Amino acid sequence: MIREARGKTTGLAERARRLRRRAEVLAAILVLFSMPLLWSLSQQVRPTPINALAQPVTRAGSLPQAPGPAQTAATQTDVARTDAAARTSRGESVEVAHEGPPTKGCDDPRVLVDRTHALPADYAPANLVSLRRLGVPVLGRDALLRREAAENLEHLVASAAAVGEELTVASAYRSYADQRASHARLVSVYGRRADKVSASPGHSQHQLGTAVDFTNAAVGYEVRRGFGYTGASRWLAAHAHEYGFVLAYPLDGEAKTGYGWEPWHYRYVGADVARRIRESKLGLQGFLLREGVLPRC
Ligand SMILES: [Zn+2]
Repeated sequence: MIREARGKTTGLAERARRLRRRAEVLAAILVLFSMPLLWSLSQQVRPTPINALAQPVTRAGSLPQAPGPAQTAATQTDVARTDAAARTSRGESVEVAHEGPPTKGCDDPRVLVDRTHALPADYAPANLVSLRRLGVPVLGRDALLRREAAENLEHLVASAAAVGEELTVASAYRSYADQRASHARLVSVYGRRADKVSASPGHSQHQLGTAVDFTNAAVGYEVRRGFGYTGASRWLAAHAHEYGFVLAYPLDGEAKTGYGWEPWHYRYVGADVARRIRESKLGLQGFLLREGVLPRC
């Protein structure tokens, strides 16, 4: 009886050992087959926090360079976007569909675009919508902004109007080609001094589709510093952040931003980020240097 029981125990132990070995082999095969998948997942491009990098780098990983012939060559998409801009200036409503893979790094509201960080020439934001169609007063036939920014701007302008402050949009989305043309125009008039007031192509926040320049009757519908002394400007300073907009180039901010005071230029970053910028007291540039993402797209 005892021997029989011992034999049974040995048999069971042997079967358990065999099962365990089979399980180990199976696990090893699974690991082997999942390696390529894990590797490809680890290669996915993610926006890089600015503070992770000591040197400003472009998406190619090199130091920023002035736009050369390769960047200025018009591509098919450039032509399509220029056409869209032309249709907009004729008063037609257009939505520019985004082509190609998602561009998270540049669509992120915290993307850093400044004197040393440029957007690629072929970057255009998705979901550009007509401000005129939303009832936002604009100079000229129309202006475009990303949908979320446009809808918040609509509320902002209506709230200002409710307390008697007029806000009209002088300029909103500008494509790389638009910026190149307007910058070249200014350079032809002011020479190198144009760089003080106008970003070179790729370096303009207007290419993001989230920046607006305001004006109103008090300054003759011009874009000038006198706007900074109007009631509308004071209202913006107190309330723009509630709608997700922040002043990008404040008074005495030139050493940080590279641009003089532009009381008319606001950028949409969303109410949450706008609140955090306000609380941090760093200003948009300082905050984005700390918590922004690089324009990799
Ligand atoms: Zn501007």
